[in-house]
Amino acid sequence: MCPREASQLALFLRPAIADERVLAAIASIPRERFVPRSQRRRAYANVALPIAGGQTISQPLVVARMLEVLALKPTDRVLDVGTGSGYHAALLSLLTEHVWTIERHAELAAEAQDTITELGIDNVTFRVGDGWEGWPEEAPFDAINVAAATGEEPPRVLEGELADGGRMVAPVGSREQHLMLAVRNGNRVGRRQLEAVQFVPLIHGPGE
Ligand code: SAH
Repeated sequence: MCPREASQLALFLRPAIADERVLAAIASIPRERFVPRSQRRRAYANVALPIAGGQTISQPLVVARMLEVLALKPTDRVLDVGTGSGYHAALLSLLTEHVWTIERHAELAAEAQDTITELGIDNVTFRVGDGWEGWPEEAPFDAINVAAATGEEPPRVLEGELADGGRMVAPVGSREQHLMLAVRNGNRVGRRQLEAVQFVPLIHGPGE
């Protein structure tokens, strides 16, 4: 089955995703608005698709898993690193109180902001900058979503911006990547390795 609309995509993901709030969010965000016109036909297929700047909008199943493992609460304040198209940020915005999202690519950030505003979503704040540096003015966060691969080391600055009890999901690894779930308990951060994934790299240094 190739899903043709958001509600069908949610149905398609249902066997793999237990969190009903995540499925409801997927069913209500039009992914077609976040992909280039040339990709609209495939907007609800369970695949990553190319967006501007040589980047990709992540595969829906992986996005849903990342949302699920963050165990989000409606009162959570969330940091999203790697805005890209803004699709992941839009989903986070439905599940939490406020989302702060960082993208190094100015053009992508502007487009994502336009799309999200057009959808009437008003609880996302955008910044063009280096996600490796986090967002110290707004820290700590209850949850952090990292949508680009960090290499072998878990991103320590971002872990430092987790509130007590806060959760972070990030693709970690270089040749082989896995989702890593980090949970802060007081001064300790526990880390768990989850499934294998494939993400574009979280680039060091100034943006474009
Ligand atoms: N979450 C996005 C997909 C992200 S793809 C979506 O839903 O569409 C990863 C994104 O991370 C790309 O847009 C890339 O430009 C951005 N990125 C890479 N390195 C970054 C950095 N250091 N800081 C912020 N964004 C970065």
